[in-house]
Amino acid sequence: MSTQFRSIRGIHDGLPEEVRRWRHIEETARRIFARYAFSEVRLPVLEPTAMFVRSIGSETDIVAKEMYRFEDRGGDDICLRPEGTAGTVRAYLQGGLTRSGAQRWFYIGPMFRRERPQKGRLRQFQQIGVEWFGVQGPLEDVETLAMAHAFLEELGIPELAMEINSLGCPACRPAYRDKLVAYLELRREHLCETCNTRIDSNPLRVLDCKIEACQAQLTEAPEMASHLCGECQGHFEAVKSGLDALQVPYQVNPRIVRGLDYYNRTAFEIVTRKLGAQGTVLAGGRYDGLVEELGGPATPAIGFAMGMERLAMLLPESAPDAVDVAVVAIGDMVSGYGLATADALRRGGCNAIHCGGGAAKRQFKIADREQARFVAVIGEDEMRQNHVQLKDMQSGTQQALPIEAAVAAIMQGHR
Ligand code: ATP
Ligand code: MG
Repeated sequence: MSTQFRSIRGIHDGLPEEVRRWRHIEETARRIFARYAFSEVRLPVLEPTAMFVRSIGSETDIVAKEMYRFEDRGGDDICLRPEGTAGTVRAYLQGGLTRSGAQRWFYIGPMFRRERPQKGRLRQFQQIGVEWFGVQGPLEDVETLAMAHAFLEELGIPELAMEINSLGCPACRPAYRDKLVAYLELRREHLCETCNTRIDSNPLRVLDCKIEACQAQLTEAPEMASHLCGECQGHFEAVKSGLDALQVPYQVNPRIVRGLDYYNRTAFEIVTRKLGAQGTVLAGGRYDGLVEELGGPATPAIGFAMGMERLAMLLPESAPDAVDVAVVAIGDMVSGYGLATADALRRGGCNAIHCGGGAAKRQFKIADREQARFVAVIGEDEMRQNHVQLKDMQSGTQQALPIEAAVAAIMQGHR
């Protein structure tokens, strides 16, 4: 018996119903991002492992446990990208664009993390990401958030909440971090194992531990937002008042952190309650230190990424791809004319199928199953007169028409 293969655990197929949603999301992103003058980039899926070790850091779950990493046949240590920002920074530097003014970029593509698969948590998933290089904010922070909001509003996903925070900067964060560590040290034994390691490696990340018992310990924890230096405070206030001016709704959530040092100031997430623990559909922030960390000149930047599969789960079911017209050709004599008719209908802009000839009953069954809006019936008479019998399946009316007139009648009802 031959083996039937299955996809790798946590890696799903995009079948037509799913892909329709993805395309709708992608097309909406391209349309809305274009209004903010962002340009699409398409970057490699394979990247040098060292790049992520440098950017995300070896102590993170992604780098320590989740990367699809291997030595290729030439002995290079490469991996399937787990996220898009590092590669985008690399391309920005490699492309020599650091002196070409601000760069507004977005990308759409697959990312890979060997996580525990769950609903909304896959091992290959797609992100739409945005990166804006060379801008200090705060106005650009506002526009980045407004663009994310405009995109999700255009998609029509209800009940999303935007949460923002400020992470401070290298001037004010160290003192805050010390204060936080002191607070956490006192509660060490009540915090989970991961939190315990993070107190030493990455204390801010303790704040977004998903375990309730840990959260219960954190109610009185010092908050970055009340330890900001003057400049960060001013930046944060300007972000908030910009969002107010645009009437973009948001809440300040002091628990939003990005654990790494190159993140600073504005951090944000857009969340839903509908996906359980996988409720973050979009996450991002300012990362003024990353370009330098990856070998470039000091360059302020801000960006975000969202999970396409999570967005898709929140969309209503999409209508199937419509068949405008099905060609039913009756009799062996007309088979060539049948093909030519389908061809002419397509050239006229109609989405057409050919029902394959043979018994009329079978062909009508196919037209019905495909939910064709019109059926173009042809027999020898129609062929001689260069006509089709165009049947409107909604009204049931039928008329003999030359091809061009049939195209016009079909396209009239076209969405
Ligand atoms: P989470 O807290 O859900 O693990 P994250 O902080 O790891 O998210 P980011 O690395 O910031 O996520 O990625 C941005 C977005 O990409 C997430 O908000 C989410 O929508 C999506 N995403 C991340 N990991 C996965 C995954 N394994 N499967 C599906 N979508 C994902
Ligand atoms: Mg994650």
